[in-house]
Amino acid sequence: MSDRILFRGARVVDPASGRDAVSDVLVDNGVIAAVEAKASGSGATVLDCSGLVLAPGLVDLHAHLREPGREDKETVETGSRAAALGGYTAVAAMANTDPVADTAAVIEEVRSLAARAGLCDVFPVGAITKGLAGEEMAALGEMAEIGVRIFSDDGHCVPASRVLRNSLLYAKAFDIVIAEHCEDASLTEGAQMHEGLHSSTLGLAGAPAEGEEIIVFRDLSLARLTGGRLHLQHLSAAGSVELVRQAKAAGLRVTAEATPHHLVFSDGDLTTYDTNFKVNPPLRTPEDREALRAAVADGTIDAIATDHAPHSVEEKEAEFDQAPPGTIGLETALSAILTHLVEPGTLSLARAIEAMSTVPARILGTPDHGGPIEPGRAANLVVFDPQAEWVVEPPFASKSRNSAFLGNTLRGKVVHTLYRGELVVADGKTQR
Ligand SMILES: [Zn+2]
Repeated sequence: MSDRILFRGARVVDPASGRDAVSDVLVDNGVIAAVEAKASGSGATVLDCSGLVLAPGLVDLHAHLREPGREDKETVETGSRAAALGGYTAVAAMANTDPVADTAAVIEEVRSLAARAGLCDVFPVGAITKGLAGEEMAALGEMAEIGVRIFSDDGHCVPASRVLRNSLLYAKAFDIVIAEHCEDASLTEGAQMHEGLHSSTLGLAGAPAEGEEIIVFRDLSLARLTGGRLHLQHLSAAGSVELVRQAKAAGLRVTAEATPHHLVFSDGDLTTYDTNFKVNPPLRTPEDREALRAAVADGTIDAIATDHAPHSVEEKEAEFDQAPPGTIGLETALSAILTHLVEPGTLSLARAIEAMSTVPARILGTPDHGGPIEPGRAANLVVFDPQAEWVVEPPFASKSRNSAFLGNTLRGKVVHTLYRGELVVADGKTQR
């Protein structure tokens, strides 16, 4: 493959510049060289993109790549492969590995694994507290100094308000983002699903929406108190959305994300006892789902993030109450959003790309991703066919297969992913 690639005649959707028009895009030596109605492609590999959409490569704020520690579930390499196939050129890797990413050394290890894989940029997230224990603050300053931008104890909430307050003060001092998994564990102990009508019918212990809302309220209060940058992860409840809406109206610098599975499914899907629908936070009611959809559409929820959470077949085939929560998501996120939110008209295509690329890139603080698609910018791009239908089934690039979308027919499929000017995915297949 030559260093020059000409994408011919794609619909270029680039929220950062406001562009939405059919155009040629020429990439040369890792950089976008031209965006023109008819670009000259002498010496370039020409890819016919008529009928296809070209957008900035997707950016995931929330993935569990499991390495170091649980390489049986996923590695940085297999997770990067899944990301590239899903159209992602950048992924934030959560800190709940073994050892926990609470020091610069673990951060550097994940970075070097990602560089070796070479399929997308991986931004390791630093832990807020040592060992995710919630007590002592991790080496935030040390990690911030080597460029870590987002900190999270994801998998756990930071239970002590005092610790979260201090971390938000650090966030302000170091210009970093504190991302929170909002869960009052004293209200969710033993919970298998959302607490409501379906949990009573199924006889499963439930987690009330209040378990999330209480922490959202507390965290917003502490963000106001400290002036630190707060990001709320995988929101699931209508009440949480309303609190974020009020906080934003009051001028608070807070951002929030929702996952494709919370935007597509609801607690009624648990009636099959399919453990792939067992996620944390749990799938909530159709009313909650509608509130999430409206919030993504109006920007109250800024970003769509996968919470890609690979688990082994043995673990997911355990009894429902023993199975760990989580679904993989990197390979299905774009298609799920196109099928369930863009096609029915809930989201415009431009807003979907903005929530999956432009805005998460901004939150991550990376200028190389999320557009604008303009000459001189790093060539991190995705090309997808909005009409292609496919059935979600193994094999996956991910080492795990615990997808909530298994067996679903989705419309819209990634064709090419260009990472720093290199076609890491061509015609739907990874190239290395
Ligand atoms: Zn979480």
